[in-house]
Amino acid sequence: MSDNPSKIIHIDMDAYYASVEQRDNPELRGKPIAVGGSEIRGVVTTCSYEARKFGVRSAMPGLTAKKKCPDLIFIKPRFDVYRDVSKKIMSIFNEFTDLVEPLSLDEAFLDVTINKKGIKSATIVAKEIKKRIKAELNLTASAGVSINKFLAKVASDMDKPNGLYVIPPDKADAFIEKLDINKVPGIGKVTSQKMKKMGLNTCGDLKKMNRAELHKKFGKVGSYYYKIVHGEYNSTVKPNRIRKSISSERTFDNDLINVDDMLERLEVITKHVVKYLEKRKIKGRTVTIKIKYFDFVSKTRSKSLPNWICSFDEIYPIVKELLYKPSIPEKPIRLLGVGLSNLNTTERNEDKDQFTLLL
Ligand SMILES: [Mg+2]
Repeated sequence: MSDNPSKIIHIDMDAYYASVEQRDNPELRGKPIAVGGSEIRGVVTTCSYEARKFGVRSAMPGLTAKKKCPDLIFIKPRFDVYRDVSKKIMSIFNEFTDLVEPLSLDEAFLDVTINKKGIKSATIVAKEIKKRIKAELNLTASAGVSINKFLAKVASDMDKPNGLYVIPPDKADAFIEKLDINKVPGIGKVTSQKMKKMGLNTCGDLKKMNRAELHKKFGKVGSYYYKIVHGEYNSTVKPNRIRKSISSERTFDNDLINVDDMLERLEVITKHVVKYLEKRKIKGRTVTIKIKYFDFVSKTRSKSLPNWICSFDEIYPIVKELLYKPSIPEKPIRLLGVGLSNLNTTERNEDKDQFTLLL
């Protein structure tokens, strides 16, 4: 570990969409609410802490959520409002540092090693930011403070909601040793199950393997694991990070079963993607379609081209081709998505940041 460790904060708003809804509508306060989904269709995007007590979670189908919590109130998302509030949150961050890397509307990394207010302690910066968010936006955030992005992110999740968790430099190694691999950003359910079967339960267990072994067992991400368990994860905070793909998807009220309906929906989604691309003058070389079946099994099909494309006339024929190849989906479909990746915007900065790759 270096002598002058960086001071990184990860801020994550608590139950963001749900908290904004409860803030704006007093009748919803103290009640179990879910933003997104309904008792028949769709998935819950965010739910209030009152709903979490019943086992309701993000990405849970509305029907399941309602079964777990019969009093659950479903709210239509108001993305314009969430985006507006997000801008205000980000501008509070910017008063402390320009090194702000947003991960989503309600989450960001801040490098406050040198900050605009000249505050030496990152913990004090985190406290100040939390105070400002509460005072100006009447919302709560949780903050994680540590020496790198990985530990800051893990820390912000340790003490939710309204939390502040600090992993100081001299405690970092011990913290990592004990950390359950489930808590590592980028290690999902499948990988963690695989690891647990191999007897790897904590980052300390991973640490016993050398770089070559990790690479052999887990491929390319093995070197990411190596870095995080050895405290060598030093990916910098990158302001305005570059998007790696542009995509859009739709969940349908009724499952689609015939091809014409699928094509019709794909056309609309493709147009939506193209509009975004044109506005920002972005081109790409890989077209992907996402298909989620009624049983929530989800598949993607992709095709890469030698040349850049961005127009509807270029993208839609490939979308169509991907729907037919290798074969027309046989099971009823609840969601379709279209995406373009390998973008010309990433050419300038081919940074293989694991956080971009894995989160
Ligand atoms: Mg959040």
